[in-house]
Amino acid sequence: MDLRTAGAALLDWYDLNAREMPWRVGPAARRAGVRPDPYRVWLSEVMLQQTTVAAVRAKYLRFIALWPDVAALAAAPDAQVMAEWAGLGYYARARNLLKCARAVAGGRGGRFPESREELLGLPGIGPYTAAAIAAIAFERPETVVDGNVERVVARLFAVETPLPQAKAELTELAARLTPEARPGDHAQAMMDLGATVCTPTAPACGICPLTGPCRARRAGAAGDLPRRAPKAPKPVRFGYAYVARRADGALLLERRPPKGLLGGMLGWPGSAWDGDPAEAPPVAAEWAAVAGEVRHTFTHFHLRLSLRCATVPLDARPERGSFVSRADFSPAALPTVMRKVWDLAASAWP
Ligand code: SF4
Repeated sequence: MDLRTAGAALLDWYDLNAREMPWRVGPAARRAGVRPDPYRVWLSEVMLQQTTVAAVRAKYLRFIALWPDVAALAAAPDAQVMAEWAGLGYYARARNLLKCARAVAGGRGGRFPESREELLGLPGIGPYTAAAIAAIAFERPETVVDGNVERVVARLFAVETPLPQAKAELTELAARLTPEARPGDHAQAMMDLGATVCTPTAPACGICPLTGPCRARRAGAAGDLPRRAPKAPKPVRFGYAYVARRADGALLLERRPPKGLLGGMLGWPGSAWDGDPAEAPPVAAEWAAVAGEVRHTFTHFHLRLSLRCATVPLDARPERGSFVSRADFSPAALPTVMRKVWDLAASAWP
């Protein structure tokens, strides 16, 4: 395979087909001399980890409106950032986002480092994000490999090794494609190609700029690659969630511990989540079981929550959590699983 020709064809395709994204400097603007803002590249890449472009777009615009630069984000209150992050999941990312913003705004005078090695030293920046920022924001010839790129490379080189075992091999092959010139555009072109042409189930080989050299296309095996090792089934955990409404309409909420699942996020008080949890009401009340259950899937397990609701008097003294007035309560500030609990509670109450 002539990798130089393939890389040039990919960049030509990108020049015509680059997706428009609010954080992206497109190829035409880039040619006109516009430079990407490292803050925006970093923010978008952290948001995009484990999340789709569609889910990130509105959140990103809201973050940029609230905090247009790293100094503004670094100065933001933790609770406000966590509330704005709600719904994106993987909340450790939001905590690390703040830590990183404060490290850059404090110790580095607001300037992100340019090399992958230095970027890796910042909180919440792993190998993928470091490579993406170095390539896209600073034109460093780094190889950026996300799920889309893995798929394109596995097909291009007809890699039969299943994922995740194939990761190192795919990264090495992707590095062979990475050019010295325009590495940022190349990285984004690979991502766009995977997202829009070399899609998981229906690759559009007829319009693909890599169709000539693509080995999987020649072998008629594109749809079978990349291969994946069978996943172990996720366990199911159970729990109770408690929604207490005070006589004045205030709701009992609890901020979760800073570390661990949903760390630092607001939520409804609840029991442990395990195979056979014990009830753990946060305040003495006549709790009513609500029909139905809340189902939510985390990375490593499925969760099923039984819901208990109660109306409590004005002088109720909860053992955990604190009351939030209805005027100050925003379901949008809750993580998704807690929002599902609220939806079920709200539908059960008259
Ligand atoms: Fe993917 Fe088909 Fe292009 Fe190969 S030719 S990279 S399988 S879209």
